[in-house]
Amino acid sequence: MSCSSRLLALPVMAFSLLAQAPTGIDLGAIDRAASPCNDFYQYACGTWMKNNPIPADQSTWGRFAELIERNRETLRNVLEKAANDKAERSAPEQKIGDEYASCMSTKDLDAKGISPIQPSLDRIAKLSDKNALAAEVARENAEGMRPLFRLGSGQDAKDATKTIAQLAQGGLTLPDRDYYLKTDAKSVEIRAKYVAHIQKMFELAGHEPTRAAAEAQSVMALETALAKVSADRVTLRDPQKRYNPTTVTALAAMAPVFDWKTFLNEEGVTVDSLNVSVPDFVRGLNGVIAGTALPDIKTYLAWHVMKTSAPLLTTGIAKENFDFSERTLLGVQEQPPRWKTCVQLVDRQLGEALGQKYVEQAFGKAGKERTLQMVAEIEAQMAKDIQSLTWMSEATKKQSLAKLASVANKIGFPETWRDYSALNVVRGDLVGNSERASGFELRRELNKIGKPVDKAEWSMTPPTVNAYYSPAMNNINFPAGILQPPFYFRDGDEAANYGAIGAVVGHELTHGFDDSGRQYDGEGNLRDWWTADDAKSFKERADCLVNEYGGFVASGDVKLNGRLTLGENGADNGGVRLAYMALMDSLAKHTLSNMGDYTPEQRFFLAYGQVWCQNIRDQAARQRALTDPHSLGRYRVNGVLQNMPEFQKAFGCQAGQPMVSANSCRIW
Ligand SMILES: [Zn+2]
Repeated sequence: MSCSSRLLALPVMAFSLLAQAPTGIDLGAIDRAASPCNDFYQYACGTWMKNNPIPADQSTWGRFAELIERNRETLRNVLEKAANDKAERSAPEQKIGDEYASCMSTKDLDAKGISPIQPSLDRIAKLSDKNALAAEVARENAEGMRPLFRLGSGQDAKDATKTIAQLAQGGLTLPDRDYYLKTDAKSVEIRAKYVAHIQKMFELAGHEPTRAAAEAQSVMALETALAKVSADRVTLRDPQKRYNPTTVTALAAMAPVFDWKTFLNEEGVTVDSLNVSVPDFVRGLNGVIAGTALPDIKTYLAWHVMKTSAPLLTTGIAKENFDFSERTLLGVQEQPPRWKTCVQLVDRQLGEALGQKYVEQAFGKAGKERTLQMVAEIEAQMAKDIQSLTWMSEATKKQSLAKLASVANKIGFPETWRDYSALNVVRGDLVGNSERASGFELRRELNKIGKPVDKAEWSMTPPTVNAYYSPAMNNINFPAGILQPPFYFRDGDEAANYGAIGAVVGHELTHGFDDSGRQYDGEGNLRDWWTADDAKSFKERADCLVNEYGGFVASGDVKLNGRLTLGENGADNGGVRLAYMALMDSLAKHTLSNMGDYTPEQRFFLAYGQVWCQNIRDQAARQRALTDPHSLGRYRVNGVLQNMPEFQKAFGCQAGQPMVSANSCRIW
């Protein structure tokens, strides 16, 4: 449950395009009828957007989504081969192959109906009083459900060498508490559809419509009550507010209606204290449990069993789940073919077993070395940048440089692969396998409590196209999946590589110094190392970004949330600047010629812009604006570049044009 800053919200996967001629920018994506100084995103991506409508089974389609699809095909080949139980298979191949085969046999799943979850439903039905809730919730956690709240582990924010138990808010089904609380017409409509969806699911489980309708109302009432006591996402971004060491005795006093000691005991967690990220939520939870009748709590628990298992049950239940979670919430028009769902499932449950096969096939040594070199260059630029800041005192500069010097880099894949030998995967037992995989993962997570921190651990699987910075580890992590076009072109145009993977490296590095990351020191401890004046200057500069991005429209009347996206926008702005400085440094040593119509500087900005070429459905844009700390692709490009005189010079933009901000923001 570590809190890290990623490049994207959803980890996605890519496949090496080694067979494709490596170049750099995509000339065919450019809309030459557009002006780069009016709308650079339209200029860099306009033709791509026109020629690449969103496929029916997707909510968003971006330039590297093509890689994701190719990757899925590769992983599919790996899995189909591993699924052949007549062939000789290694232990990891048996597990990934049998889980994939279990997921693919929809006929078998249809024949089973809801019988795979019947034992869990029966157990819930038998609960006779609220005192039995603690043991039941513990049991459900081990099976992959997370009703009411979330227990996990993580580094102690103020002593990063320690792993402690962490208790977080949770228990909602809709993507955010605002979905339950907002009163605009669209939110009201989504809630009505959600209630209808719950009813339909209970009917598919065999309940009479009248009973199912009442059950839907009670689930909605309980989740709304939880939403009301939940903290919003902006509050949760503040690491000081999330840090609340609490003794188990004090926890029990905050929410006496729930038997915490039994719960922790059942989870095998023997601690005297833990971090409670939102104390008000726990106090509120007490009221919710106390104020809800036991039959309604049981209905809520049954709902979480149904919802979590829906993709693993019958075709009808999986489709109903898709219709609400994907079609209504994200605007996706068609259910993806089954094999895509199954590839994702194996990546989630057995990610390092599948990832090992991916790395064997798709990751070259050259990619790792070039990325390490890029990281070194960009770190050197960040040091230069810090030293040159006019708004920061020498004392804070010294501390910043010390933190920068201790950032660790992890590239490609784990040095030691996760050992799944204790996890039993049985062909034909999809729900059982998923429960065991969830239990295995929960045990792995909780077993870390009280042990030394393992800094070599990865929280993304190797085929993932994403990257992250962990403030408590003070490390940046680049899975093999992202070291591919359009981020990295082996033997391709150097200017484009700086604009793409270079900007990603700069982005992750800047996270160590964004509004949240700056509150941690080089050892990963939450400790204020800033002078008061420097902190004030930082906040003023950050407010500039809050105002800038808060003015961007996501969909209809929904704008981006400038505070929710501040860390990511800061990282984008800093990242592009650092990558550009690295390109300048490189050009000073050896010149790059123009290619076609474009100078190296222009190709840098085009490569950056084109990484974010995307089409997105209105529903998905709306969900992103409410829940995602990352801005939409259009604003990741235009929002950054309108702040950069270097961009404006490269394309000859003049004051007064839209891509030249009258009040340009800059922190780093
Ligand atoms: Zn990020």
